[in-house]
Amino acid sequence: MSDHMQQPVCYQDLKTYIQSYIHHISQETWNQQILNKLHSIHPSTSHWATLPVRRHDVCLTRLRIGHTRFTHKHLLLAEKAPECPFCKVPYSVYHILIDCPVFNHHRITFFHTSVLTLSDLVGESPHQNLFAFLLKIGFLYLI
Ligand SMILES: [Zn+2]
Repeated sequence: MSDHMQQPVCYQDLKTYIQSYIHHISQETWNQQILNKLHSIHPSTSHWATLPVRRHDVCLTRLRIGHTRFTHKHLLLAEKAPECPFCKVPYSVYHILIDCPVFNHHRITFFHTSVLTLSDLVGESPHQNLFAFLLKIGFLYLI
């Protein structure tokens, strides 16, 4: 082992160095995840702004990571994944928010278009009518 490795190191310096190194590595890794569904809605690894209503904040986080009680509780209960009866595909956050034609008229009502991306709805600044839409389609309290 070389001499400089045996010099005492200030704990705080080391901690600061390690934290910035970890953040650097996670940002590098994240930058390479261009196909990751979350990347398009949050390209930076810095923290999200929080919403004033804690319950909405929890909902928004669940929608962003695509894990909700409704779409994922079957995993805990060892049941079949819930399926959209109209489209015959497993329900996902993407299907419910963006894809399913059953909710198109509500999308037009609340977002003035039926052509949307996750970034439009749950990105850095969430759509102002997002929670009204979620309530209307009956998804809000299942998140
Ligand atoms: Zn559907």
